[in-house]
Amino acid sequence: MSLAHGRPYLAIPGPSTMPDRVLRAMHRAAPNIYEGEIVDLTATVLADLRRVALSSSHVAIYISNGHGAWEAAIANMFSKGDKALVLATGRFGISWAEHARGMGVEVEMIDFGRRTPADSARLEAALRADTERRIKAVLVTHVDTASSVRNDIAAMRAAIDAVGHPALLAVDCIASLACDEFRFDDWGVDVMIAASQKGLMVPPGLGFVWVSDKAVAASRGSDLATPYWNWHPRLFAEAYYLHFAGTAPTHHLYGLAESLKMLLDEEGLPQVWARHAALARAVWAAFDAWGQGGEFRLNILDPAARSNAVTAARIGNGGADQLRAWCEREAGVTLGIGLGMTEPGAPDAGDYLRVAHMGHVNAHMTLGALAVMEAGLQALSIPHGRGGIAAAAAVLAARTK
Ligand SMILES: *Cc1c(COP(=O)(O)O)cnc(C)c1O
Repeated sequence: MSLAHGRPYLAIPGPSTMPDRVLRAMHRAAPNIYEGEIVDLTATVLADLRRVALSSSHVAIYISNGHGAWEAAIANMFSKGDKALVLATGRFGISWAEHARGMGVEVEMIDFGRRTPADSARLEAALRADTERRIKAVLVTHVDTASSVRNDIAAMRAAIDAVGHPALLAVDCIASLACDEFRFDDWGVDVMIAASQKGLMVPPGLGFVWVSDKAVAASRGSDLATPYWNWHPRLFAEAYYLHFAGTAPTHHLYGLAESLKMLLDEEGLPQVWARHAALARAVWAAFDAWGQGGEFRLNILDPAARSNAVTAARIGNGGADQLRAWCEREAGVTLGIGLGMTEPGAPDAGDYLRVAHMGHVNAHMTLGALAVMEAGLQALSIPHGRGGIAAAAAVLAARTK
């Protein structure tokens, strides 16, 4: 007999749980796409997108997923044969590099592996070695969702400035925006990308690109941008439909307006970050306790380099795959698969999983997912330390003492 009947919980790092309010805001007849409410709503959404990134930059919205946003950024920043420097800390950084290469950009990659963040000293050295100033942009993920590492973006900016290198700083915040603290202006970011279905709590389908004045100027004359991906008409649209190169993503905009209101005007961004940080610490406390015996271990050892949105862990001997299957089948909780954690070419042993704590998620959801995992560890006789749930509860309790 399974205990999965009831409301299921999808605890994978995107799509995240969508608030009923967001879904209800989308449940409506199509609006006129030439004038009226949707035009005003879009102006509000664009302003709120700047607020959520703490950015005074320009914002373009694409009808795409995150992969589309990757290509939008690449298409505008580079011309064919230009050079990118990619700082890879997991599968997503590597994939962004592959997209750039596939579009005709020359890519130099510094691969920091899957368990440690990017090192600004190595970035600085690579930029110093670029005496001809061929590198046009540095590409880095804020949070690499595969490894769950979080990179220090301000430190990357400082390294670029220390060299006096003109390269743009382009950051993938698809997993981190509205989960982990991110400051576009303060951290000197030039290009930032995100997507609708993670911290922003809206169904998949929108990609976003924030663009600094410096990046706008640098992108003029770039020859990779096709009419659809060119960000200039979207950033500086003279007519409403030019924002979207055609029909607006009407219903997604209604949903996004609702989610941004929840994040910015009701809960407030500092509280949103604090909620994610607390839930993340609860997850780490449980994982640490389980790791005191047996095969369980957090992927990122240094807490300062861990994301507050998602946590990757290893359970050897295929334990991660077994546990994921048990949690879904027996308890209605779906955990994330391991992604790109094995050596290239090696068979996937099923040793990695990820639990998301991003977006519309609160204490009972995260504690519930953890308790289900602990039940699964017991049921499957996977060796683990005791007291994971007590440790997680203690973290959350300590906040309000
Ligand atoms: C989810 C994610 C992507 C890919 O987004 P899709 O919408 O699946 O295309 C890229 N980068 C990061 C950091 C992500 O978390």
